[in-house]
Amino acid sequence: MILLLFGPPGAGKGTQSAFLIEKRSMAHISTGNLFRANIKNETELGLKAKSFMDAGDLVPDSVTVGMVESELESLKGASVIFDGFPRTVPQAEAFDELLTKMSLKIDHAIFVEVPSEMLVERLSGRRMTADGKHVYHVTFNPPKQEGICDVTGEELIQRKDDSEEVISNRLEAYEKSTAPLKDYYESKGVLKSIDGTGEPEEVFGRIEAILGS
Ligand code: ADP
Ligand code: ADP
Repeated sequence: MILLLFGPPGAGKGTQSAFLIEKRSMAHISTGNLFRANIKNETELGLKAKSFMDAGDLVPDSVTVGMVESELESLKGASVIFDGFPRTVPQAEAFDELLTKMSLKIDHAIFVEVPSEMLVERLSGRRMTADGKHVYHVTFNPPKQEGICDVTGEELIQRKDDSEEVISNRLEAYEKSTAPLKDYYESKGVLKSIDGTGEPEEVFGRIEAILGS
């Protein structure tokens, strides 16, 4: 199964991906996490992505699509969640070509809807492990011990781009480049919109209802 999770920054894509990974043993491709790992390891790809990410701008499509292509090839055959990719119409078109080439197709493109006024609060209180796999919120989903991951015991970090001024640029980039994907996937007949408010478990229930057993 190929499942896309998209929606604005802070919609809960990473949080819902963690449920899917745990409960459905799905593989996960998060372009944000992949870029951050490349930046940490000082790879050429990381170098290309860094200045865009720091400013809250999207990384160029060619860099992003190339990275996803090699990840997907390495996961051949697995059920995969795409978290935060595609984020532009050209990425979505390139992705369709790639999937066709691999004899795959998108089963569901789930759009997680959250009112914009809730996003800043979610993002500014977000804390996560350095690899982005475990996501918390200082108020809405605090770890048992402040600043420490419940699962791994690592110290949690606050992303630099979760500062208020970068957040506003990310939200603008979302409106301009990513929101048009709703129409794109609607026209392909795979769009499912869900309410992303309420407890994370409730939101997960809405995803489960789409995926079935
Ligand atoms: P995204 O990957 O879409 O940017 P995250 O999953 O990282 O979003 O969530 C953003 C922040 O909002 C995190 O701090 C997370 O703990 C919190 N969060 C996620 N889902 C919910 C929810 N249903 N209600 C309240 N806060 C949430
Ligand atoms: P969030 O879900 O909070 O927006 P992500 O971790 O998904 O954050 O993305 C962080 C940053 O990584 C984005 O602001 C952007 O610079 C870059 N990025 C992630 N995915 C993509 C993508 N598909 N296309 C372009 N840039 C991306």
